[in-house]
Amino acid sequence: MASESVGEITLSVVVPMYNEEAVIAGLVARLRPVLDGLHADYEVVAVDDGSRDATVALLTGQARDWPQLRIVRLRRNSGHQAALTAGLHRARGRWVVSLDADLQDPPETIVEMLRHARAGADVVYGVRGDRSTDTFFKRHTARAYYRLMRRIVGAEVPAQAGDFRMVSREVVQTLRQLPERAPVYRLLVPALGFSSAEVRYVREARYAGETKYPLPKMVALAWDSVANFSAAPLRLATWLGAGSFVACLALIVFGVVGHLRGATIPGWTSLFVAVLLFGGVQLVCLGLLGEYVGRIYATVQNRPTFHIGSDTADEPSAASEPQAVNGRPVAAARG
Ligand code: UDP
Ligand code: MG
Repeated sequence: MASESVGEITLSVVVPMYNEEAVIAGLVARLRPVLDGLHADYEVVAVDDGSRDATVALLTGQARDWPQLRIVRLRRNSGHQAALTAGLHRARGRWVVSLDADLQDPPETIVEMLRHARAGADVVYGVRGDRSTDTFFKRHTARAYYRLMRRIVGAEVPAQAGDFRMVSREVVQTLRQLPERAPVYRLLVPALGFSSAEVRYVREARYAGETKYPLPKMVALAWDSVANFSAAPLRLATWLGAGSFVACLALIVFGVVGHLRGATIPGWTSLFVAVLLFGGVQLVCLGLLGEYVGRIYATVQNRPTFHIGSDTADEPSAASEPQAVNGRPVAAARG
């Protein structure tokens, strides 16, 4: 390998792989010419996410005559986003692009991504212009997902941008500093507000093998996405509490009126009123707790509340030149 230290390699390609034995030969055959054609230093970081098939053996075989291919093995299956995290921590490139192993995201797109990155974009999103090769179910669940996420996180989340994306070393550094337990990069990266560009591509069909994202994993990703970016589920308790408190007050009036008119048996009114009152008070208190838990959560996530794009004081020579700054405030956890 040309160099061993961080930042000296131009490009790292992170490829998470879980039981992808069927695609490896095809992936190498298509990815390698693209990367060799860049005429730049590169490395491919294949992250084996605890595969139980021949993935590692096949990768090891490929690495024998492709010295730029690195294999990072996770001890057990930890999920796509965790594999990406491992790749980001291990990658040494000036720019890092993440790519699915199944060739659904055409590697040729990397060339254009790198051009945008070199022109100054810190993040280059691969945006699926056409996903007609995906199943009906996948297309529609994905559309609903992106719509919901744009509402929760904000409009800076590009629709139909999955995990095919190139980021600069600065972005990697920022991401690595976040102590987030279950990062969802497709939302986290836009929320950091780095300057960005988009490259459109047509999503191809899976080259071989079958999807490693069955419904339970999709649901888990969607839940991580909501819970990472919004205290709305916690706030539900507050609203429910407030709602039932109002309902309780109305029922208390009903009970007392019944008592005054002598329409109830003795003891019922006091019991009824007490149950309602304490029920309502408890729900409100739960909601209140939720509000604080939400704030503690946001604090523990420790996302920056702002991100400096540039500061003329840091670059005195360039002070007079106009600069392309794209420093939007960060969308921190909010309801
Ligand atoms: N993947 C992984 N760990 C998992 C599930 C998936 O590393 O637990 C990898 C998988 O090998 C692939 C990428 O994540 O490279 C995306 O998975 P897949 O293509 O099956 O998802 P889909 O395109 O069907 O959403
Ligand atoms: Mg796929």
